[in-house]
Amino acid sequence: MRNKLWRAELRWDPVLGEWVLVSSSRTRRPWRPSNRCPFCPGSEEAGYGWDVLVLRNKYPMLIPNPPSPKKHSFYRVEKALGDCLIIVETPLHDLDDISDLSVSNIAKVIKVVKELDRKYSGEKWAKYLLWFRNKGEEVGVSLTHPHSQVYVLPFIPSKVQREIENSKKFYRKKKKCLFCRIIETEKSDGERVVFMNNSWIAFIPFYAHWPFEVHIYPLRHMQRINELEKDELFDLAYALKRVLCGIKKVYSKPMPYMLVLHQAPYHGVYGFYHLHIEIYGVYRGDGLLKYAAGMEMGGGNFTYDGLPEERAGILREVIEDRCME
Ligand code: ZN
Ligand code: ZN
Ligand code: FE
Repeated sequence: MRNKLWRAELRWDPVLGEWVLVSSSRTRRPWRPSNRCPFCPGSEEAGYGWDVLVLRNKYPMLIPNPPSPKKHSFYRVEKALGDCLIIVETPLHDLDDISDLSVSNIAKVIKVVKELDRKYSGEKWAKYLLWFRNKGEEVGVSLTHPHSQVYVLPFIPSKVQREIENSKKFYRKKKKCLFCRIIETEKSDGERVVFMNNSWIAFIPFYAHWPFEVHIYPLRHMQRINELEKDELFDLAYALKRVLCGIKKVYSKPMPYMLVLHQAPYHGVYGFYHLHIEIYGVYRGDGLLKYAAGMEMGGGNFTYDGLPEERAGILREVIEDRCME
């Protein structure tokens, strides 16, 4: 796979001030290989005897021992240093979504993320661990066997960087966590809350960008996934099951979504930050995909068709009526 032509590097965008991950191997990534599933038990990669399996991505953007990039006379280039992992969430190939797993099996997946988070915390180069999950052909998923991904990054992702800057400013001014303040507000407004249990609250925020954008926050102020207590981890598994089931059942066919864990970076002090999960459900109507188009990609600001309050009401009802165990 890694022949002489393989080249990966980080390129700095000096205009927007953010990194772009460049890897030449990705263009050779097979689109839905039809003959065999590399994530099924018994495959060359997977072997047998597991509930949750961690594999290295075969077509990585980042690797632990990257070659030095060719220097450029003007542009900033860095090694594609990092790790790209696949979390195969179940041996069962034909499950549609992680929400079809039992709560205790979802908890096993979260535990694996927590263990990986701990594993890389000792690496000096590791600045950030990003866990994310893409669901549905429309958001580019090439293998349908339920899986999510972990990118261990040598930099802080720009969206998280923005959150850090704004929450730090808020903290300085108000002596309070911005996210705790948002949780209080969403709780007392109530109309955008879609699910709540002992340790987590899920809502479509007042300022949602995507049609079914759900944020899930721990009620306890914490920064990183490794701080989760046993019952909090189990409660998160339960919250994910209910919320993702709701997203699946809102329309006549399962809605594609992206899910990402936002936590504090590895090094440094981030007491003002508050861990959360963001889910972007991308249907704006039955089978109707919301695109990030000219305004969103070109201008950077989202247009929201409808009202977050209306969509939250719909989702809450589906979760309550059709997503009980
Ligand atoms: Zn499979
Ligand atoms: Zn907080
Ligand atoms: Fe966030």
